[in-house]
Amino acid sequence: MTTTTMTTAKTDSGVMPILFALVLGVGLITATGMLQASVLHDAAHDVRHATGFPCH
Ligand SMILES: [Zn+2]
Repeated sequence: MTTTTMTTAKTDSGVMPILFALVLGVGLITATGMLQASVLHDAAHDVRHATGFPCH
């Protein structure tokens, strides 16, 4: 009884991080693949200006 409960809890905590990493990785690859390079550049550019970093 106790062993079954512990096994179930261990399985749940072991699968969730993998599932989370998988979703995060696929989402990241999809986002970087679908987004245009100019969009990423503009976002980085805006952050650079907002932080006062000289760029041009
Ligand atoms: Zn700039």
